[in-house]
Amino acid sequence: MQTSISPQLLSNPDIAEAESILRACVHCGFCTATCPTYQLLGSELDSPRGRIYLIKEMLETEQASDKTRLHLDRCLTCRSCETTCPSGVRYGRLIDIGREMVEEKAPRSLPARLVRKAMLAVIPYTARMSVVLTLARVFRPLLPAQLQKKIPAKQSTSASPASARPAATHARRMLVLEGCVQPLGTPNTNAAAARLLDRLGISLVSAPDAGCCGALNQHLSDSEGARTMMRRNIDAWWPHIESGAEAIVMTASGCGLMVKDYGHALKDDAAYADRAARISALTRDISEILNNENLDAFAHIGQGRRVAYHSSCTLQHGQKLGGTVEAILLRSGYELTPVADSHLCCGAAGSYTLLQAGLSQQLLNNKLASLCEGKPKVIVSANVGCQMHLASASDVPVKHWIELLEQS
Ligand code: SF4
Ligand code: SF4
Repeated sequence: MQTSISPQLLSNPDIAEAESILRACVHCGFCTATCPTYQLLGSELDSPRGRIYLIKEMLETEQASDKTRLHLDRCLTCRSCETTCPSGVRYGRLIDIGREMVEEKAPRSLPARLVRKAMLAVIPYTARMSVVLTLARVFRPLLPAQLQKKIPAKQSTSASPASARPAATHARRMLVLEGCVQPLGTPNTNAAAARLLDRLGISLVSAPDAGCCGALNQHLSDSEGARTMMRRNIDAWWPHIESGAEAIVMTASGCGLMVKDYGHALKDDAAYADRAARISALTRDISEILNNENLDAFAHIGQGRRVAYHSSCTLQHGQKLGGTVEAILLRSGYELTPVADSHLCCGAAGSYTLLQAGLSQQLLNNKLASLCEGKPKVIVSANVGCQMHLASASDVPVKHWIELLEQS
């Protein structure tokens, strides 16, 4: 794709990166076929190719409108288009750059800005989120029906209470990210991961000073806020890395994708660049860890139980680990039910459930219909956001796949 961006704008490294991404696009449109918003809305401007043109136009004219912002907002950042693209267009990075620019060129209304600020002030902080959740549960009957469904019950099929974690007694040690929403929404996930890895001779430890990975800030165009969280996590993890932790384990694929990008996000920060690159290199999804261990003891534990696996976008499109969890579940004796359109997003997508509630709900309904088609006994996922979103409307229990494996 030809571009005509002013030299002055191109002196900004992010814009220069955007230009190189734009130039890789040959406008073939293959990506439209696998874009969830294009499938729902049927409009070119709600397809990857349409959004790429909108970003190109914004960079060339240095202007944007409410229309530009609307179509960029509707993108889930699911990166299904990246998986499909034959030219290797790094759309996920392009939309991040485009979104930062659109905030500046087409500012939101004051109420919209306040909503985003409130989300950033609460969601990434577990203690604050806990207070808000407690209040939301008390006032649930007074809230709109759609919002009521989004508030996780204290005890639900998706949120088993956290069981005890084993003492860290093994010579092999790995760090785990506790995250921000996961301790409240699905508290048993990391406990199950710790028990499972303990049986494999690995102790899972966490660094109390680490917190949110920064993904929410990144998605809401607050890249400086995201970098602050990255630096805090690097400082919290570094002593453990120096004392021999083998890996940083991610049980939420959305966080894993973000932490694997720390090296790129902090490449221009002289004080953190090297450590950020090392942290990213050490980061593994829990499925990557298990895939490299001897799982003979797990063979047959599934006993043919029918399971529908929801492949999160951040694992299959972002981290390119599609098929890894499925292979572990099959080796462990589960029967995976067929799931149509497994490349499509469930509509969770970070803050999408709150900011694009209508589209999010349509995607959720379609996803649950596909997942339930094969009459599974349980639905499993690899990401806290998907798990909570699916559980908000599912009659079938929804778990993290690591809980299923551990409980079997
Ligand atoms: S598939 Fe890739 S090259 Fe083709 S239009 Fe989409 S982003 Fe551009
Ligand atoms: S990231 Fe997902 S929603 Fe956004 S353009 Fe690509 S396929 Fe469509």
